[in-house]
Amino acid sequence: MSRFARVAVGIALRQEFDYRVPDPFLEQIQPGMRVLVPFGHRLTTGYVIAVADSTDYQGKLKSLADILDKAPAFNSELMDLLRFAAAYYGVALGELMRKALPPSMHASEKTRVHLTDAGKTAFEAESHPDLKRLTGRGLTLRRAREIYSPALLSKYEDEGLIERRQSVQKGGPGEALEKRVKVARYEAELISGPKQQELVDFLLQHGTVPVSDLKHHFKAPERLIKLLAERGVLEVEKVRVFRTVETVLEPPTEPEKLNDDQLSALADIVAALDGGGFHPFLLNGVTGSGKTEVYMHAILRVLELGQQALVLVPEIALTPQLMATFRARFGDQVAILHSALSPGERYDQWCQVAAGTRPIVVGARSAIFSPLDRLGLVIVDEEHEPSFKQDERPFYNARDLALVRGNQAGAAVVLGSATPSLESYFNVRSGKFNELRLPRRATPRPLPDVVIVDLKEAGFLDEDRIISRPLAKAITERLERNEQAILFINRKGFAAFLLCKACGAVPRCPQCDISLTLYKRSGLARCHYCQFAKPAPTECPTCGTESLKEVGAGTERVTEVLAEHFPTARIARLDSTTSGGKRLTSTLANFRNRNLDILVGTQIVAKGHDFPGVTLVGVLLADIGLSFPDFRASERTFQLLTQVAGRAGRGNVPGQVFVQTYLPNHYSLLHAQRHDFGSFAREELTQREYRRYPPYGCLALFRFNGPVLERVRDAAKVAADLVSKNAGAGQIELLGPGLSPLSFLRSRYRMQLMVKAPSRSILQRLLRKLGPQLGKRLPRSTALRWDIDVDPTNLM
Ligand code: ADP
Ligand code: ZN
Repeated sequence: MSRFARVAVGIALRQEFDYRVPDPFLEQIQPGMRVLVPFGHRLTTGYVIAVADSTDYQGKLKSLADILDKAPAFNSELMDLLRFAAAYYGVALGELMRKALPPSMHASEKTRVHLTDAGKTAFEAESHPDLKRLTGRGLTLRRAREIYSPALLSKYEDEGLIERRQSVQKGGPGEALEKRVKVARYEAELISGPKQQELVDFLLQHGTVPVSDLKHHFKAPERLIKLLAERGVLEVEKVRVFRTVETVLEPPTEPEKLNDDQLSALADIVAALDGGGFHPFLLNGVTGSGKTEVYMHAILRVLELGQQALVLVPEIALTPQLMATFRARFGDQVAILHSALSPGERYDQWCQVAAGTRPIVVGARSAIFSPLDRLGLVIVDEEHEPSFKQDERPFYNARDLALVRGNQAGAAVVLGSATPSLESYFNVRSGKFNELRLPRRATPRPLPDVVIVDLKEAGFLDEDRIISRPLAKAITERLERNEQAILFINRKGFAAFLLCKACGAVPRCPQCDISLTLYKRSGLARCHYCQFAKPAPTECPTCGTESLKEVGAGTERVTEVLAEHFPTARIARLDSTTSGGKRLTSTLANFRNRNLDILVGTQIVAKGHDFPGVTLVGVLLADIGLSFPDFRASERTFQLLTQVAGRAGRGNVPGQVFVQTYLPNHYSLLHAQRHDFGSFAREELTQREYRRYPPYGCLALFRFNGPVLERVRDAAKVAADLVSKNAGAGQIELLGPGLSPLSFLRSRYRMQLMVKAPSRSILQRLLRKLGPQLGKRLPRSTALRWDIDVDPTNLM
């Protein structure tokens, strides 16, 4: 008998607790279930890690208060994955388990009503021309005989429509016992009044009807329903309903006939599926090479084998198209899981996955924890995307966990990209992954021509120097030919901001020390990090003169310039401030349907979309990202340029890309210009090897923040000393501590410390030793927050 349960509570506490299991729960309790446990002075949700018939704990044990699940929310494979992730990323198991589940777990029920048999009979009787007259009252036998012939009376009696009953007539003094004929099921007590009659009539016609639908036909039907239900005329039932997830609607599609490259890639994946067991692949295919079609064919095989497929896609705003594509091919077999769904929608999709009714899951990073138990294939599309890494607690990298999960489940894992991460490319080179290559586009179109425009020499269309003459000429041509263009801005460094022409000062956010972005339409200057906003100043905050001038260009300014110079063009812009989900979807649909000529946007327009009408892509300032203090700056720039260029020329007309830059000779740009991932990767790997950055070394980033700089600095110093003490001879390198690139955010100072180790195991050993010591020396509070990010992708 498992009298004890080991429980992790859903908070950032890396400790588990034993609870006594009270008798009524003994039969039921299983690992992976959610339970309610007393914790401190309250009850909180916990997760059963293990059950046992003894405990080592010496003190007095509390009992768990309730079990919240009928079946475990986590199967044993998922428990293994979560345990691994918690240990590897140094996060609390309970917190990770909480994040792995939908944010709320409430089933939605619909109340429906239908007539009972009695109700139907009553209604028939009610509408019966003869019996109708009896409605509402009992009759004395004498009176009934006056109305009906004896033959008819006994016929009705046989049919059960009337019955004889003795009743006591309260008639004042001298109560009399009298024989009465009572109309059996249809008298006034059952259905009384035209309203009730109408409702019963409606139900008779429509069968089972949701109460919410009745509300369209009847005013406040609840009271009627209650009355009629009490009399047994109708029955109220509650049924579980599943909220549906809306995607862009696409007509159903048939599988494409694959080309030779696709067939050969598919053959390798199918061989792995048929053979079973863990097989990692890198599907390295240029943009438009038809990777999605290969995924979908592989999934067909997975379904034939009676297994399940998990497809991880980057942040959802970027991929409504991909979701729609999967829905169009696989219909209701697809579950969609991402954070933009309402909690209810998410829970329902999750339940259907757990129940096995939707064997394909398409989702963002947290879908790595989907409750699948027959996993045959894991796909990570655009595997190089940083958004697979959760860069706040609980940290984890879904791309990397996909490999762990594939290994545990004995599944094939396909990482797909046109610009693979150097980590994955390195795994190919060292023989860990099989590389599948799609070197050509699937459509007969070549990859687009890439023109690099040197901004130091080019003339400009506008005085803000946003659009160069060569790009302007290309736009004019597209408009004349009724083709479409995308203009891309890397917004992070290129939003409009204010600069004092007299003293050079830039108005900054008082909380983040980031230059404020100008929003002309609303007249506000706004901080991108904390959303602080104030009316745009006219006077310089430093020198007091009225010399503030707008520089740089956000999507709004670019749109204005375009509208001025191309007055007939239909222009729209997309960025994270304009684009809530609906707005995003409708703008993308408008562009796709060619109701727009030019789309101006940030990262949102760069990736994944397939717009056949686009023949021109302009990158307004390519080199912004190159100056970021991040060892992946070149990689990110190469990826971004390649991805955004990949939007051009996917239809019947070849595409052209204009890249505007002040650094026309940078190797990221030059290799992107030639669509040459291999050469870029080799050059970049040389740089990484020299500095022992990933994939040649492993990193952990210690981050500290607080409102008082000295406190933060002291804490970082303590951590640095501890690292040095535990580091051992020469193996571990320490970078910092120093201020973070974003050194002041939301009124808190930020410092960081990078630890570089030659291997994962050496880094893990260090962190395991360090964790408890740091916890003791640096208690967390609002005055000091800190975290350790293993395999960081965000270094800002
Ligand atoms: P990727 O994901 O590799 O960038 P997509 O999967 O979006 O490329 O494919 C690009 C386009 O090519 C899509 O419109 C797709 O329908 C089409 N396509 C894919 N495979 C084939 C094929 N074998 N024959 C014809 N068209 C194809
Ligand atoms: Zn701010």
